[in-house]
Amino acid sequence: MTHEVRAAVAVKRGAPVEVQTIVVPDPGPGEVLVAVQACGVCHTDLHYREGAVNDEFPFLLGHEAAGTVEAVGEGVSGLAPGDYVVLAWRAPCGGCRSCRRGRPWYCFDSRNAARPMTLLDGTPLTGALGIGAFAEKTLVAAGQAVKVDPAARPEAAGLVGCGVMAGYGAAVNTGQVGRGDSVAVIGCGGVGAAAIAGAALNGAMKIVAVDVDGRKLDRAERFGATHTVDSRGTDPVAAVRALTDGHGVDIAIDAVGLPETFRQAFYMRDHAGTLVQVGVPTPDTTVELPLVDVFSRGGAIKSSWYGDCLPSRDFPFLIDQYLYGLLDLGAFVSETTTLDGVEDAFAKMHRGEVLRSVVVL
Ligand SMILES: [Zn+2]
Ligand SMILES: [Zn+2]
Repeated sequence: MTHEVRAAVAVKRGAPVEVQTIVVPDPGPGEVLVAVQACGVCHTDLHYREGAVNDEFPFLLGHEAAGTVEAVGEGVSGLAPGDYVVLAWRAPCGGCRSCRRGRPWYCFDSRNAARPMTLLDGTPLTGALGIGAFAEKTLVAAGQAVKVDPAARPEAAGLVGCGVMAGYGAAVNTGQVGRGDSVAVIGCGGVGAAAIAGAALNGAMKIVAVDVDGRKLDRAERFGATHTVDSRGTDPVAAVRALTDGHGVDIAIDAVGLPETFRQAFYMRDHAGTLVQVGVPTPDTTVELPLVDVFSRGGAIKSSWYGDCLPSRDFPFLIDQYLYGLLDLGAFVSETTTLDGVEDAFAKMHRGEVLRSVVVL
């Protein structure tokens, strides 16, 4: 059986997203069909529709989603119709060289559904980040559907599937922020704000938020920033040093991904500090640093892939923190909209007006 549902599709490079009827097949072996309840609008969706990721149009956009399992395919265990899930774009395979060495959060062969979702004329759709959840129903690999507490409202819960997890994990998993650490976060959009929240929850003592937008700095304080630096008028490296007795921070997180912010993060670290790169750079970006500084300052330069998360471990944990009132996922939801509002949400995101617009289905 197949299902005809409404969905937001990027048909060709740079063209506005179209709401169309698509065809979603029933789940094959190892797959699950999910009725999507809410899906956040992320920068990556915009990158897909601009052709900045690859050329495999048409794309079914959307990848920060929560919903309920509608049907499970052959051989699926641990999931049943009615289960409440958050979708993940990492579903560890269990067999690649990284999984076999006990590091499934780096899985090099993450699973996706094999059966294609299509346009009405049969043209196969490419799901954004292997998902595609701006749709009333979507088909994913079973490992991509992570069961969480159904008490979490879907608009908030879905955000754990991408931006919140990436930022939180950049601080907690990649940066290993611990009690008493000092942390700086450059770029306080959704990912940066989540990094601040994660750092605060893990006991960071001083958290400096850096941005060029005063509105984002105000919001950063709500997520746990102890200090803010507006880098339009101030050298952020000097400002962070001044706030840390001249030393710099233990962990500096670049949530922007420009050469300038990378360099700032590099130099605002204390000796032996850690730089975490989580902002996604464009393919043509290069950065130049004196190698002697890389050597003599010590420490680590780490990139954070999806917050180095293990969805089955981390999603339920973050949702529980939300339900216990420790992690304010609701504060990331700036507005809710519909499938027809995706283009408008892209524009608002581009202007920096929202942390997240969330499509409710
Ligand atoms: Zn995303
Ligand atoms: Zn693997």
